[in-house]
Amino acid sequence: MQKKIQSALISVFYKDGLAPLVQQLHEQNVTIYSTGGTQKFIEQQGIACVPVENLTHFPSILGGRVKTLHPCVFGGILARRDNEQDLAEMKEFKIPEIDLVIVDLYPFEQTLKQTSEEKLIIEKIDIGGPSMIRAAGKNYKDLVVISDKADYAGLVDLLKAQQGATTLEQRRSYAAKAFEVAMNYDIAINNFFNGTILQTLNDKQVMRYGENPHQQGSFYGNLDEVFEQLNGKALSYNNLVDVDGAVQLALEFKEEKEPVFAIFKHTNVCGIAIRPTLKQAWDAALAGDPESAFGGVIITNKTVDKATADGISEIFFEVLIAPAFEPEALEILKAKKNRIILQIKPDAPLAKTSFKSILNGTLVQDIDKGNFDKWEEVGGRECTQEEKENLAFANLVCKHLKSNAIALIKNKQLVGKGCGQTSRVDALRHSIEKAKQFDFDLHGAVLASDAFFPFDDCVKLAHAEGIEAIIQPGGSIRDKDSIAYCKENNLAMVLTGQRHFRH
Ligand code: 5GP
Repeated sequence: MQKKIQSALISVFYKDGLAPLVQQLHEQNVTIYSTGGTQKFIEQQGIACVPVENLTHFPSILGGRVKTLHPCVFGGILARRDNEQDLAEMKEFKIPEIDLVIVDLYPFEQTLKQTSEEKLIIEKIDIGGPSMIRAAGKNYKDLVVISDKADYAGLVDLLKAQQGATTLEQRRSYAAKAFEVAMNYDIAINNFFNGTILQTLNDKQVMRYGENPHQQGSFYGNLDEVFEQLNGKALSYNNLVDVDGAVQLALEFKEEKEPVFAIFKHTNVCGIAIRPTLKQAWDAALAGDPESAFGGVIITNKTVDKATADGISEIFFEVLIAPAFEPEALEILKAKKNRIILQIKPDAPLAKTSFKSILNGTLVQDIDKGNFDKWEEVGGRECTQEEKENLAFANLVCKHLKSNAIALIKNKQLVGKGCGQTSRVDALRHSIEKAKQFDFDLHGAVLASDAFFPFDDCVKLAHAEGIEAIIQPGGSIRDKDSIAYCKENNLAMVLTGQRHFRH
């Protein structure tokens, strides 16, 4: 049903882009009602406008907190034009109908970025604006609601093309947008009050495709808060998944003084090492599994220097993440234009909560920031200092492998990993196989398991390969079998009391 706009209520925070729309409304003989600052702006365009106070018979009070919150405004927005009682009441209380509501809300999110002063932030919670766009959206059968500056130009074109009228379908679509704007606004306020980082739908990025080319994919979020992209093509869906994994892993090594380099593939860490120099860390990370590294996401905790840039340029990788780059190193790395180079911002605000969609719902949980609840040595002997360091490292690395997971570490280098296996002993077999593939001698290596050993088969197999120290959460009813084996064979075993499943 086409409906001609005869009256409009305009109340916008930012006035930019509004002039052509107001001009068009004026040409269509629309009566314009408006609030203080907006009224002034419209009048400056040489266009007459009725102050909203003429409807409410109230001035703007409480420093602007109450401007439009009045039955004479909301009645005009919410009245059903096909409802006799509504129309009779409108007449009785002398409430004029409003056919178009244009609102640009107080910039709450922007204010958050500019100040931490609570008083200023609270004042930027718009009350009348969201109420008006929600009311107008609810009554879309009779009203047009414009809740986003980006829609001003489109409305001008539409009014020109349709002689100042809109269709029901168009009005419904503007209403849908208004509820999205209102929802995002409330999410931002909720995040401020509750300290959460719930995602708003403001920053939608449509990707070339999802996990596979036949799947559509998009990303909601703002990566600019986390990275500056210095080179390369747009991040793909799969890139983002691995970038997230790599960043979560890197967070574990925030306090590490020495250089750490890690290589991420398909949500698993496939190479990682700590070394005195960055180049050594890179070489050792790569040597752990040079085959898997191809096309990976790589991350470090230190400034990338020339020697390291030369080294990593020799292999094909998708994404490199680092806190900083020496200019010469960056030049080398930028030689390939598709290579994605991300400079991670210090103290980037990262979510504490993760979401996963299942069936028709969403699973929500805290991100696993844990490490161990205890350090209980229960084996046949105490760990050496070197073993302790390697075991702690192995425990962290294992957290970043899909369950069931085993990580084998020797001299602060991942030398074998088994992950995503449906049995723990298979994960161990696989990790041993990987170590042997690249000629690692497992004598003196240490082992971490993401969860307890249900049987003593893992410790037996590890021992047969020369592994002498093991870290695991414990808690199995058969712990005693594994512990007894360690005692009999002089193996060190640490119980952490904290499981790190990753499904
Ligand atoms: P103006 O610059 O026209 O004086 O104010 C426009 C702004 O006021 C818009 O952002 C609009 O959303 C907001 N606004 C309109 N009515 C009310 C109200 O009753 N209370 C509050 N807090 N904000 C309002």
